[in-house]
Amino acid sequence: MSITETAIASAEAHSAHNYHPLPVVVATADGAWMTDVEGRRYLDMLAGYSALNFGHGNRRLIDAAKAQLERVTLTSRAFHHDRFADFCTQLAALCGMESVLPMNTGAEAVETAVKTARKWGYRVKGVPDGMAKIIVAANNFHGRTTTIISFSTDPEAREDFGPYTPGFEIVPYGDLTALREAMTENTVAVLMEPIQGEAGVLVPPPGYLPGVRALTRERNVLFIADEIQSGLGRTGRTFACEHEGVVPDMYVLGKALGGGVVPVSAVVSSQKVLGVFRPGEHGSTFGGNPLACAVALEVIAMLRTGEFQQRAAELGEHLHQELGLLVGGGAVEEVRGRGLWAGVDIAPALGTGREISEKLMDRGVLVKDTHGSTIRIAPPLVISKEDLDWGLEQIRAVLRG
Ligand SMILES: *Cc1c(COP(=O)(O)O)cnc(C)c1O
Repeated sequence: MSITETAIASAEAHSAHNYHPLPVVVATADGAWMTDVEGRRYLDMLAGYSALNFGHGNRRLIDAAKAQLERVTLTSRAFHHDRFADFCTQLAALCGMESVLPMNTGAEAVETAVKTARKWGYRVKGVPDGMAKIIVAANNFHGRTTTIISFSTDPEAREDFGPYTPGFEIVPYGDLTALREAMTENTVAVLMEPIQGEAGVLVPPPGYLPGVRALTRERNVLFIADEIQSGLGRTGRTFACEHEGVVPDMYVLGKALGGGVVPVSAVVSSQKVLGVFRPGEHGSTFGGNPLACAVALEVIAMLRTGEFQQRAAELGEHLHQELGLLVGGGAVEEVRGRGLWAGVDIAPALGTGREISEKLMDRGVLVKDTHGSTIRIAPPLVISKEDLDWGLEQIRAVLRG
């Protein structure tokens, strides 16, 4: 057996099979490139589902992490630490909001948003106890906890994991009439991804997000934007909501916030909304720890200049132009997305998304399939135009067969 096969067999023998990774064993990575245990190089066109927006081993982020490692890494929130105030102040400013509640993973931040909305509903809106409803969209992906999978429409995510948490209403994504009809006096929030990533990088019809904003405002309902994957530069703006001129009541952030170094997530909102919490009502041992704050502060500083957003916009335009040329030729049925983010529906006759991903891997390009014959492309925002073009050339070659 090769080194790769041995490593994979050993991993399979000693780990739960809750993933089906491509057969590549990464040993090192730098920028947009990864190198496997046998020295083969691969262009990373997934970027950890946007957790690696700034690339692998980003010097500024690694230096920030190293410096903090030598100072203090964890205090728990039982004590203050000297990076916390800066992190919260600067993240709130980046979001144009007032208040931050830090957690670690995306799912925890979504759980935090759900708890915030419910408590806001009871204490501020005046919803009768136990009656709060949150409206979500079909084909959503918000994480993997038992409550979050309770409002998933993906049978793989749900089956055998019940009983499910009540209090959620599912409406078709992009349908304002359905949303209006689902709203009642007890609706406390609408929780949505401004672009549905896992569903295949689905961009809602123009006017949908402003419509959600108007409806939620009119009905005194919180609009919670899950920008864990779409936010922090990926689409060519700091937030995907900006493309439609929409400001939600709450951002849910994760992935790129930790710079690909440590898990950092947060809920960002107004004082009025996050002010519903009292000590002891919610928390996390690692949430807002000094190392997380130090890395995230560097991420925020990098986003403040706008250079990564601009890069994503410019390279994204090129990416979508090139992918667009493939549509109609028989191999590609549709391309969606914004910025350096694309969902590509391959003609099923050419193979499943998995088979296409494996062929791309053989050519040194790593992508991830999602439902059926869709592959998604989301390279680090630091990718060079030359590398992007090389990756596109490999995609064209695979689609030519
Ligand atoms: C990845 C993701 C999550 C969950 O984040 P984890 O860190 O994996 O828990 C939630 N929402 C969206 C939109 C995501 O892309």
